[in-house]
Amino acid sequence: MESSKVYWTDFRTTFNENLMQKMIRLAKSAGIETIDFDGKFTAIKMHFGEPGNLAYLRPNYARALADFITGLGGRPFLTDCNTLYPGLRKNALDHLDAAFMNGFGPLSAGCHVIIGDGLKGTDETLVDFPEGEYVKQAKIGHAVMDADVFISLTHFKLHEGTGYGGAIKNIGMGCGSRAGKMEQHNAGKPDVDRSKCIGCGACVRACGQNAVTLKVPDGAADGKKKAFIDQDVCVGCGRCIGACPKDATHPCGSNTNEVLCRKMAEYAAAVVKGRPQFHISFIVDVSPYCDCYAMNDAPVIQDVGIFASFDAVALDQACADIVNKQPYLHGSIMDECKHTHNDWSMDVHPTTDWNAQLEQAEKAGMGTRKYELVKI
Ligand code: SF4
Ligand code: SF4
Repeated sequence: MESSKVYWTDFRTTFNENLMQKMIRLAKSAGIETIDFDGKFTAIKMHFGEPGNLAYLRPNYARALADFITGLGGRPFLTDCNTLYPGLRKNALDHLDAAFMNGFGPLSAGCHVIIGDGLKGTDETLVDFPEGEYVKQAKIGHAVMDADVFISLTHFKLHEGTGYGGAIKNIGMGCGSRAGKMEQHNAGKPDVDRSKCIGCGACVRACGQNAVTLKVPDGAADGKKKAFIDQDVCVGCGRCIGACPKDATHPCGSNTNEVLCRKMAEYAAAVVKGRPQFHISFIVDVSPYCDCYAMNDAPVIQDVGIFASFDAVALDQACADIVNKQPYLHGSIMDECKHTHNDWSMDVHPTTDWNAQLEQAEKAGMGTRKYELVKI
């Protein structure tokens, strides 16, 4: 396979061009205008940041991109899907509150914000992916798959589960419905933490498979009923996780990080397969952990720039290589790491090799790890 071009620019500006304008110039240089946006619903997939985190991308960039796409005749919307775990983005109402709180409202973004997998994370499209080694049918947020054009806008950072969190992570994990995320993260079925369960029955009502029953646990002296999931009947849809007011239902049986990376890559390939796509990533505020945490530790390297490509695999490879070439910043978690891997991500998260996600994405036909950098 031939190499893909990855365009990039640093964060220097002039009085004639601010960073939003520079990002648009970069996207134009990379060829975004060759996409036919006329009348097309365009999903701009991003991470709105868990409230408390400050490393997520500024909404100003999303606004500039949405305005640009609107100018090309497109119908852009910002989107993300609900999280699997407890937090402030686990259903659409909380998720929209979090997005608005972090500056991603319709007025500031210049377009609507849609939670791709609906109110409780169950509004999904089943996407056949016969070429997948790990995933034969991906469960993707419905609104994401309904879009005619797909664009990722990504904060490139380190990630505890996938090594680096770049475009593939933003697309693959980020566009999965709750069941899709569960499939990527673990064996695919939830269990109940009965110390948290209050026996309210919300999960029983939410389950379409009659897999949940309330009963008094063996030996419980107080006679209080708790939820039990029949693992043989459960189909792993994740509705009970979204329904539980106490976060007592939770995914179980975690995959290794390598399997997680490979499944995630195949999900990403399924999301973009067969439709116009474009990807923009920022190496800025490179925090050691995901933006899903309600905090962000000090950046591990200096800010580098903005990168754009039609090929998300080439883009992630370029970003990983460039991050690894930067000197690390003292005063960050890097001071506490053993630097034995010649790789910043693996120094911080030694149990995760990010190469697995790129290798699998390339195998799944999503793109190539070979790239040519073009600076504008
Ligand atoms: S994951 Fe779905 S099928 Fe399984 S117990 Fe929960 S609601 Fe029922
Ligand atoms: S919804 Fe949660 S708290 Fe209510 S019964 Fe089910 S597991 Fe227990």
